[in-house]
Amino acid sequence: MTATVIDGKAFAATVREKVAGHVARLSEEHGIVPGLAVVLVGEDPASQVYVRSKGKQTVAAGMKSVERKLEVDKSESELLAVVEELNADPSIHGILVQLPLPAHIDAEAVINAIDPAKDVDGFHILNVGRLGTGQKAMVPCTPLGCLMMLRDHHGSLSGLDAVVIGRSNIVGKPMAQLLLGESCTVTIAHSRTKDLPEVVRRADIVVAAVGRPKMVTGDWIKPGATVIDVGINRVEDRLVGDVDYESCAERAGAITPVPGGVGPMTIACLLANTVTACCRANGLAEPE
Ligand code: NDP
Repeated sequence: MTATVIDGKAFAATVREKVAGHVARLSEEHGIVPGLAVVLVGEDPASQVYVRSKGKQTVAAGMKSVERKLEVDKSESELLAVVEELNADPSIHGILVQLPLPAHIDAEAVINAIDPAKDVDGFHILNVGRLGTGQKAMVPCTPLGCLMMLRDHHGSLSGLDAVVIGRSNIVGKPMAQLLLGESCTVTIAHSRTKDLPEVVRRADIVVAAVGRPKMVTGDWIKPGATVIDVGINRVEDRLVGDVDYESCAERAGAITPVPGGVGPMTIACLLANTVTACCRANGLAEPE
């Protein structure tokens, strides 16, 4: 069997097109321009690349993009002051503080200082709680992108066995909540899981969010399963996922590549979340 390739790059382009359509309508019908602010502390090269790419795509969708850059030695209270300023700015509907933050700053305190209505990353404790209790929330972009691809491929996910490898607050846990919300039977695996290959072999859906290059191999995959690879690992100047693509593609029914899978969907979902936040802030109907 050769797996269907789930083309995240193409899918993300359609999401961005829809976002641009909503943005144009908001502007024409209501005179509103959604605004996204990205805050970067320090000069981590990978973070700089992400921030630049987010800014470019925000502008390309017709939205306002604001970048706030702080030097690496700025204090937590200086960063909090920037967050407060953006919270109070009515032209900004989404605020994202790029992680990781330098060690002297308490990332949790900063994230929880963001107005939950503008928390387009969905990491604020209120949004985490809302997602966990099935209430209307801002949903973290990476798991949201994964879910969109899964829904697009499967239609209904109800009753499917899903194994999420990784339990981070930004990917693994919200991914599991979303799959539970779709009535999957969800297992969350992590570094202490016993006999991980056997656990993964039960899965109709495997989401790998581990940070270990090519850890998941084809012999772990139930024939026909859908494999979503969240991992981004730089190996010998090349990007590889957490999934060994070649061997898994031989067994899977569908699989996302790296690059060109989950990555592009993450930024597209960030733009979509910003439009959603803007509509909610203005009491307007949200895009689906
Ligand atoms: P974290 O390091 O926060 O979490 C990794 C998780 O993997 C932990 O829960 C850890 O378990 C688990 N783990 C580590 N080793 C093993 C193992 N040998 N067996 C089973 N589980 C293991 O990573 P993130 O969730 O932030 O990111 C995961 C990956 O996704 C990374 O490659 C990252 O670059 C990528 N990523 C990609 C994004 C995108 O847009 N495509 C966005 C965000 C992340 P434990 O909790 O027990 O330590």
